[in-house]
Amino acid sequence: GEDRPNLTPSCAPKCEVIFGRLLRGYFRVGPRDLRPGAYSEMAPNSVCHTFSEGPQMKPYISLLVFLFSTLMPGAAPTCTQYEDFTLVMHGGAGSWNISVEKEEAYRLKIQETLETGKNVLQKGGTSLDAVIAAIRVMEDSAIFNAGKGAVRNSQNVVELDASVMDGNTLRAGAVAAVKTIKNPVHVALLVMEHSSHVLLTSQGAERFAETNGATIVDPSYFKPAPGYLVHEFGTVGVVARDRCHNLAAGTSTGGLQGKLPGRVGDSPLIGSGTYANNQTCAVSATGQGEYFIRGVAAHSISALMEYGGKSLSEAADFIIKKKISSLGGAGGVIALDIAGNIAMPFNTNGMARGYVRH
Ligand code: ASP
Repeated sequence: GEDRPNLTPSCAPKCEVIFGRLLRGYFRVGPRDLRPGAYSEMAPNSVCHTFSEGPQMKPYISLLVFLFSTLMPGAAPTCTQYEDFTLVMHGGAGSWNISVEKEEAYRLKIQETLETGKNVLQKGGTSLDAVIAAIRVMEDSAIFNAGKGAVRNSQNVVELDASVMDGNTLRAGAVAAVKTIKNPVHVALLVMEHSSHVLLTSQGAERFAETNGATIVDPSYFKPAPGYLVHEFGTVGVVARDRCHNLAAGTSTGGLQGKLPGRVGDSPLIGSGTYANNQTCAVSATGQGEYFIRGVAAHSISALMEYGGKSLSEAADFIIKKKISSLGGAGGVIALDIAGNIAMPFNTNGMARGYVRH
């Protein structure tokens, strides 16, 4: 029943938002590569600072919550076994050559995304719930290439892809080339939970979404905020480790601008753009999807850990900086291992990304 120890008011190094444009050149990642002033700490009272406030839940209350949630049918699943949790997000790899004002808008949305995911995890929500909730914030934001703000294909039509994976059960769900689903990542979850399939495409996925109560919108809903059309990448993804220490990953995108109608990228493909396995790690990718498909990027990171004994950062660095790079592909990943380590390598000029760790 002790109060939590106070974290430093600025909450660094526990919590930070790192904005993509701040890294220059290829193959560079990590705080030591940040140029002076590039490191962005959260303001006091933002995401991380809130951790240091408030008394910890008394043990008997935790027990009551646990009993309630396990005994009550239909009650929300709770994960309060451990105190610690982690959530990592990306908002796409690319050049991120944008104005200071736009940078600020992205930073705020990244903070909101982290805050949303943090709230789910702190309350004992599952990593899967946190991934969905956090991605929905970005899908609805109209400033990322996912959901509302998605890019258009060569016929000027929005076609969305998304997937999720549960690292505990290796269950997964995905949708591809959908035109009327407001939150594709939510329907990816529905596919996982309410069908015997992993991937549904186009009208089949849309019909499934409707039948299962997902929000359907007119294609005219998809409209980036004025001045915010993301030309290069801008996909969103989240990986999380909850207070049961289960991993989950999710990715959502409008794909590549000007793509052929029907083109499917890596984002809805389990093992390419998304992967999660409690034995190893959770991964979400962004970049030129064709290369991530050919390099089977996300699962390769897991496989290097599982079969090759590599650490998370060795595995993630190898796949982005060696494998994807040597194929000629551009992009990056966020990755989180079962011990809570984070890796965020990319070979583009930048990758919008952030994490919250408690
Ligand atoms: N990977 C996505 C795709 O190829 C694009 C992106 O990351 O922005 O569809």
